[in-house]
Amino acid sequence: MNLPIYLDYHATTPVDPRVLEVMLPFFTQTFGNPASRNHKFGWAASTAVENARKQVAKLINASAREIVFTSGATESNNLAIKGVAQRYSDRSNHIITVATEHKGVLDSAKRLAQDGFRLTLARVHSDGLVDLENLSEAMTERTLMVSVMAANNEIGVLQPLAEIGRMCHERGVLFHTDTAQAAGKIPLDVEAMKIDLLSIAGHKMYAPKGIGALYVRRRGSPVALTPLPDGGGH
Ligand SMILES: *Cc1c(COP(=O)(O)O)cnc(C)c1O
Repeated sequence: MNLPIYLDYHATTPVDPRVLEVMLPFFTQTFGNPASRNHKFGWAASTAVENARKQVAKLINASAREIVFTSGATESNNLAIKGVAQRYSDRSNHIITVATEHKGVLDSAKRLAQDGFRLTLARVHSDGLVDLENLSEAMTERTLMVSVMAANNEIGVLQPLAEIGRMCHERGVLFHTDTAQAAGKIPLDVEAMKIDLLSIAGHKMYAPKGIGALYVRRRGSPVALTPLPDGGGH
C-alpha cells in the first residue's frame, strides 16, 4: 500500500464532519438571503449568520457587531489595510509591517506604497521574531497602522502580540494582526492584546474554503473602514 499522508494543515484543513452537518440544511432548506428583512426565509438565515458571528467573536473576546465576514484571510487583510488607509489617508500616510508577513498583507501594503503611502518593513531576528526596537523606532507621528501576524505560516514563530499591541496603543497607532495560523490554536484576546483589526481564515481550522472574518474594533476607540466593494453593507 502506498497511501500518501496529508501533513500540510497549515495550507488548508478538511471540513470537520460536525461543521458539515451543521451547515448542510443551509444549502437546500434554510436557503434564504440573510439580507431579506421582510420574510421568514430571510430571518432564519439571518439568525444563523448572527449566531455564527457570536461564535467567531467569542473565540477572540470580541463582540458580535465587531465581526465582518469575508471570503478568507486574504480578503480580510486587504480590507483591514486598504480600508483603513483609505479612511484615514487625510490624517496619516505611513504603514509598518514585517518582511516575513503573508502575501495578503505584504502585497496590500505594497499597493498602498504605489499609491503614495510610506511603507516600512520592520526587521526580524534570526529566529523569526520581530525586532521590537526596530519596530518602535519606525513609528512616527504619521504612522497609521502596524500589521504583524500572530503565527508565521512557514516557520510557526509566534509574535508577541500583547507587547506590540501595547506599543501601538501608547503611540496612538492602529494594530492589525493576521491570525490565519493562530485562531483556534492559541488563545487570542483582542482586549488584553490591544488589537484593533484581526484577520481569520476559516479553511485553516476545519471550515469550508471561502469563509473568513475580520474583527474591526468598535469598543473603546472604534476603527472606521472604507469598504472595498461598494453596495455590500450587509
Ligand atoms: C493561509 C493564510 C492566509 C490566506 O488565507 P486565505 O483564507 O486562504 O485567503 C493569510 N495569512 C496567513 C498567515 C495564512 O497562513
